[in-house]
Amino acid sequence: MTILPEQYFDDLYRRDSDLERVVESIRRAGMPEISVAAGYGRLLTFLVAITGARSILEIGALGGYSGICLARGLPEDGRLISLELKQEYADIAKDNMTAAGHGSKAEYLVGDASESLDKLALKDNRFDFFFIDADKENYPNYLEACIALANEGAIIAADNTLLRGKTIDDNKQGPSVLAIRQFNRLIAQDSRLMGVHLPAFDGLALAKINLNK
Ligand code: SAM
Repeated sequence: MTILPEQYFDDLYRRDSDLERVVESIRRAGMPEISVAAGYGRLLTFLVAITGARSILEIGALGGYSGICLARGLPEDGRLISLELKQEYADIAKDNMTAAGHGSKAEYLVGDASESLDKLALKDNRFDFFFIDADKENYPNYLEACIALANEGAIIAADNTLLRGKTIDDNKQGPSVLAIRQFNRLIAQDSRLMGVHLPAFDGLALAKINLNK
């Protein structure tokens, strides 16, 4: 019997009760089961750790799965700000983050991310790492807002750049698809970014920000 590659790799790792708690809480609350996959979460922890990031901005918290993975890569005095539209989701994410032992690092800003990003810019916040995983129509705007909030050399990671195949299907021309295509072109071509697209999971984009360009 063969199993899927992702399942094979997941089975190599120890059980993760903190992330299992997130998955269970999302199910219990009837929230959408759209957290990043386990391997994706490990990649986020790894990227934060190897880049030495001390401050992270996440757009799209849901139940806190990716947030916990990001916080795990931070030093003890690191900080994560997570933007979430829905109060009930932010409350669950916060509880899960606290139960996972990273509550002191995390802060949740509830409301439309575009408005929260404007508020963060007014207070002159700066971040070393960004994870974009919210409404797809706004990805190009989020990218610009992240660049404006970035420390030199900051990293941007973004999920769902393939939109389950819609991005590469010419017959799909909806607002999310058009926005993701524009976002992908910016990652590839914006002179302020060193970008790379990975056709893994549902498409993962990474970029290093060079503010001196
Ligand atoms: N990153 C999460 C994880 O892997 O654990 C999953 C995030 S889920 C794919 C997208 C989240 O973005 C949802 O919780 C949704 O409520 C939130 N969201 C959607 N539109 C938003 C907006 N305009 N501003 C802030 N959050 C938004």
